[in-house]
Amino acid sequence: MQNDNTSSLVQKGVMLPLMEEFYTIQGEGYHTGTSAYFIRIGGCDVGCHWCDVKESWDPDKHPPTQIGAIIENATKYSNTIVITGGEPLTWDMTLLTEGLKANGLTIHIETSGAYDMTGVWDWICLSPKKIKLPKPEIYPRVDELKVIIYNKSDFKFAEEQAERVSTDCELFLQPEWSVKEKMTPQIVDYVMKHPKWRISLQTHKFLNIP
Ligand code: SF4
Repeated sequence: MQNDNTSSLVQKGVMLPLMEEFYTIQGEGYHTGTSAYFIRIGGCDVGCHWCDVKESWDPDKHPPTQIGAIIENATKYSNTIVITGGEPLTWDMTLLTEGLKANGLTIHIETSGAYDMTGVWDWICLSPKKIKLPKPEIYPRVDELKVIIYNKSDFKFAEEQAERVSTDCELFLQPEWSVKEKMTPQIVDYVMKHPKWRISLQTHKFLNIP
């Protein structure tokens, strides 16, 4: 339980509920195989039933952390920072991203887009969710659209989402991990028939790294 002062600092983005931070290899999407420092911010109420980071949902389970400390840690490891969650846009990302930028770092976000866009970003990866659609303003800014394929109806959803992003946006279909044996062959077939898409696999899980 946070006191009022801490709660106010979190609302302003001066502190953020930090779930974990780690230096690893980006396992998914356009930057697969490249090293990056991940900052995982707690808090998400989108509620995907297949979510693989459900422990991120409740922000009160993650310590409110001064962004200065987060930035200081990040500068030690990599020039590329990936901010993920949870849903990082639950919070105001302005101060954190400005602080990272001031240190010359390149900043990526992985988001469902369900909340107002705050912060300064070099790369926006949108992973839209049917149950809480992205805010319309995010679509023209998206560099990478990554749609999770859990069942066949997700291909239709992916096409609907692809119509909303810019023409130079990178398009990825990624099997949801628990159904990957069933859905990966269908994605392979789909990409061969619709080559504007690429397949994204969660290679970090195959490599057994975070
Ligand atoms: S948006 Fe992401 S963190 Fe939130 S429930 Fe869905 S998969 Fe999990």
